[in-house]
Amino acid sequence: MSQNSKANTIPRKALVTGGATGIGWAICQRFAASGILCVIADINEKAAQERARTLGPGHVAIGVDLSDLVQAAGLVARAAQVMGGLDIVVNNAGITDTSGRRVGEIPIGDFERLVAVNLSSVDVICQASQEVLQAGGVVVNLASGAAYRPLALRGAYSATKAAILALTKTYNTLAEKLGQRVCAVAPGYVRTELVESLIANGRLDAEAAAATVPLGRLGDPDDIARAVAFLASPEGGPLAGECLSVDGGTITSGGRPL
Ligand code: NAD
Repeated sequence: MSQNSKANTIPRKALVTGGATGIGWAICQRFAASGILCVIADINEKAAQERARTLGPGHVAIGVDLSDLVQAAGLVARAAQVMGGLDIVVNNAGITDTSGRRVGEIPIGDFERLVAVNLSSVDVICQASQEVLQAGGVVVNLASGAAYRPLALRGAYSATKAAILALTKTYNTLAEKLGQRVCAVAPGYVRTELVESLIANGRLDAEAAAATVPLGRLGDPDDIARAVAFLASPEGGPLAGECLSVDGGTITSGGRPL
């Protein structure tokens, strides 16, 4: 057996934050289907453990609250220790303000939590990933169409996602020297718990939202998972520091998120 074919038999290992539900869970399922072992890191530790059991042997769960930057900073090393190394890190966990308040009306504590989970934790995880990932390692960050066209009543969320685009490019510049890549994916509306909660409390009209998508439908979590899996694969190699919009053409066509 050549050294290369031996190396190819070693499963790659991925850390997915917020992997217990929605897009993160779809990413874990797609990774697992291609033989990648997952660390599902989530504030909902019980759900993460159930998901890891569902994926099977070799997949593990870690409970973490990413609003606590000490926990976030230690997560990558913790995951690498459990798995014996890491090849892929997906910064997927994210929260939004579903109250419909304008950005200046959000209490400072809620604002700070949003920034901590959506942005600061991504920063410390990108930083830690550069130390832990080998050459060939990939980080994929979840941005949003809101990064390009801010949402009127979710200004703070939009600001964190716009910052993810800059952070992705900045960390990619540093990662290049290490033979690593940092990319991002910007989903349009995807029917996950986050979006279902907006629909349930009347903050989003599902039909009106679908009408803004040239493709004619809201996204499915696996639409996003396929893009993340591609970016994280060796085939995604030429893409570095870039953000893929996976939104059925919404942003490209000038469509406006609601
Ligand atoms: P979701 O709410 O369905 O799932 C988020 C996951 O993150 C959950 O498992 C939750 O427990 C976990 N999480 C929340 N706070 C956490 C914390 N403090 N520490 C650790 N884990 C935490 O969300 P989703 O819709 O699957 O979104 C995933 C990502 O995609 C987010 O970054 C979101 O901003 C982005 N996004 C989603 C949409 C969409 O329409 N759903 C659109 C654009 C971007």
